[in-house]
Amino acid sequence: MEEEIKRAREILKNAEGITVLTGAGISAESGIPTFRGEDGLWKRYNPADVDTADGFRRNPQYVWEWYNSLRELISTKEPNPAHYALSKLEKIKPYFSIITQNVDDLHRVSGNKNIIELHGNIFRTRCIECSQEEENREVPLAEIPPRCKKCGGLLRPAVVWFEDYIPLEIIDSCLLSIENSDVMLIIGTSGLVEPAASMGLVAKHTGKTVIEVNLEESTHSQKYDLVLLGKAGEILPRIIPD
Ligand code: NAD
Ligand code: ZN
Repeated sequence: MEEEIKRAREILKNAEGITVLTGAGISAESGIPTFRGEDGLWKRYNPADVDTADGFRRNPQYVWEWYNSLRELISTKEPNPAHYALSKLEKIKPYFSIITQNVDDLHRVSGNKNIIELHGNIFRTRCIECSQEEENREVPLAEIPPRCKKCGGLLRPAVVWFEDYIPLEIIDSCLLSIENSDVMLIIGTSGLVEPAASMGLVAKHTGKTVIEVNLEESTHSQKYDLVLLGKAGEILPRIIPD
């Protein structure tokens, strides 16, 4: 492991452009459960009810009660050393961006600037009538389900649900970011959810060096250049160059 830590640090030190891809694993040590882990959120809630537009149409009240409790949980959590290591890395690199599947906003709280939110943000809402999107940090929500101030329509969380489209310009900015980088760093993602799962492969196929940090091997680990197994909060601070 010492050898791998040294190698990762060297690769990151020499890199001019870095794209980071993060998943629920980077926030696990902040106390936000992952989806598929032992105490995974999906063990308690049925995603077909709370994470689909269909479920929302059937019962917006139920969906918002779940999101309200998730927002309450997340708003008490803080970034961990892995998040802070990434904000340090952004400051010392000419080109840097984070593609995150997380909706918890912790990369912003820890000080990163160039963040692509692939799956949206739990502290934003979108009106299902007029599409108006805005920040909403009211915790707990006074009114469930909340309504649009502009048109009175139902608001939904501005997160990506199953069968939702990710806007093409978001995908485009991910690909551009990979193109502009020489190294990709993938942290705490199972590699089961597309399109994020394929981004490490795109990086590999276009000649980038890919480093992964995860508790265990993920779907495409075998194809990456370097895989560091362990906790993100312990490994990240050790591989970020001074
Ligand atoms: P996932 O739950 O499928 O996988 C989590 C990965 O993190 C696993 O591979 C696991 O081995 C790894 N991991 C767990 N603890 C770790 C640690 N301390 N250090 C390093 N690795 C660790 O998560 P995913 O791949 O992000 O996909 C799930 C979906 O869930 C995404 O769409 C995301 O939007 C959503 N989600 C987000 C949050 C959040 O915002 N914090 C939380 C749960 C789920
Ligand atoms: Zn509206």
